[in-house]
Amino acid sequence: MENNHQSQPLQPTKASRFKRVCVFCGSSPGKNPSYQLAAIQLANQLVERNIDLVYGGGSIGLMGLVSQAVFNGGRHVLGVIPITLMPREITGETVGEVRPVTGMHQRKAEMARLADAFIALPGGYGTLEELLEVITWAQLGIHDKPVGLLNVEGYYNSLLSFIDKAVDEGFISPSARHIIVSAQTAHELMSKLEEYVPKHNGVASKLSWEMEQQLVYTTKSDIAR
Ligand code: AMP
Repeated sequence: MENNHQSQPLQPTKASRFKRVCVFCGSSPGKNPSYQLAAIQLANQLVERNIDLVYGGGSIGLMGLVSQAVFNGGRHVLGVIPITLMPREITGETVGEVRPVTGMHQRKAEMARLADAFIALPGGYGTLEELLEVITWAQLGIHDKPVGLLNVEGYYNSLLSFIDKAVDEGFISPSARHIIVSAQTAHELMSKLEEYVPKHNGVASKLSWEMEQQLVYTTKSDIAR
């Protein structure tokens, strides 16, 4: 009889299509230790796949756990942080490289420009806002980078149900629903993101990041006038 319990030879890690991934996550650790564990597991996945990290900088909450674990694993960590959030008492000590930027808009644009994919862990308003913005940019065709949601213990079930309702009610197209790739574990999510192929047609596919940034800054200076 065949021995199904024989140890399998270790598979060499397949080269990832991503060089750098941007992680959005809570500046709080969350009450359930599963969120903290998931942050470490995601970091380990990035390290195993030789992927560098870009994130919002600092050492608080899940942000600190992810960045420290990726840094400890020997990968490059880049924290993009607005000058106003830089004081240590707001954000804590940052590991790796720190890139100061002038504000929240520039931070998001910079994180998005530098990353090949985005992943949201559990988090609050800040995480949701960052996640929905990169989804919106994907929908418009400003980028075609994969967007992953690590749905730890169903944390994002109600958000996913809401998005399904928006599809049913005709506010989100079924093809744009596919922009969000979700999974319960970091390993499954990374595997799905590696295979992601966009299904939607961007309405403004000729917009480049540079144009988007120009639009942001033109609008801001118009407002200031
Ligand atoms: P939240 O989910 O509301 O805790 O916000 C977390 C997200 O917003 C992170 O991905 C960060 O990019 C950003 N953020 C919020 N608060 C801070 C902070 N004190 N220091 C650095 N980034 C922050």
